Amino acid sequence: RLSNAIALLQRERANRLMSVDAATAAIAHEIKQPLTAISARGSAALRWLKRTPPDLKEVQECLTRMMDASGRANAVVDSTRELFKTTDHQMTQIEINRLARQVLRMVENDLHVNGVTVSTEFQEDLPQIMADRTLLQQVILNLLKNAIEAMAAGPTAIKTLRLVTTQDGNSGVSLSVHDSGPGITPENGTHVFDPFFTTKSSGTGLGLSISQRIIEDHGGKLRLTKTSSSGCIFEITLPSVATGDSGG
Ligand code: ADP
Repeated sequence: RLSNAIALLQRERANRLMSVDAATAAIAHEIKQPLTAISARGSAALRWLKRTPPDLKEVQECLTRMMDASGRANAVVDSTRELFKTTDHQMTQIEINRLARQVLRMVENDLHVNGVTVSTEFQEDLPQIMADRTLLQQVILNLLKNAIEAMAAGPTAIKTLRLVTTQDGNSGVSLSVHDSGPGITPENGTHVFDPFFTTKSSGTGLGLSISQRIIEDHGGKLRLTKTSSSGCIFEITLPSVATGDSGG
């Protein structure tokens, strides 16, 4: 599965989403940890089995940890695959407000289950943008999921997700995602866009790094514009069609 993921990464090189060397080094690093855990737990399980009488409770514990570690390795590979699978960008004209509404509908159930209230402030008559609809959808979806997960995990009493679109300068549009979660510490704030940086037990830490590359690939920026103990704001800015088309 890993060689499969690497083959996909190699195809992506042409699209410059991520340098293969950087990606494979990061994947190797990330897969090594669960592999080491699996091997250590395997040896331990054998030792517990060789005892007289064998300690089956400890063996069971070792096997459970081995399965967790293997799940983690699989998650890394799966997400690498999923996030890199688009090779040809299908650029079309997009209304950011419409796309944002579509993605909101995709997470309707998650919002409901987690008791999150949504508010939107969409500026009308924004210029259109040129983007790959699927990729842009994935980026927005990732931001919304992160926001929901942050609010679901923390002690946040009032869970609100707020989406705002505005004109960015006179040559672009911006979409920002505000949440009322626990926010991000200044130290973590400098790492959230690093590949494989995650604070979640089952996270891959790839979402934001790939999202940032996708947005940069579209000539835009993805930034963490604000964070405090009462939530954070991630902002996507993209050039609009009229001024952002530089022929490439
Ligand atoms: P993952 O979600 O798999 O951890 P991401 O790259 O999407 O990977 O996110 C990296 C890390 O950034 C998360 O583990 C989390 O610590 C932090 N993060 C991202 N979005 C938020 C948010 N809205 N609120 C708090 N922390 C966040």
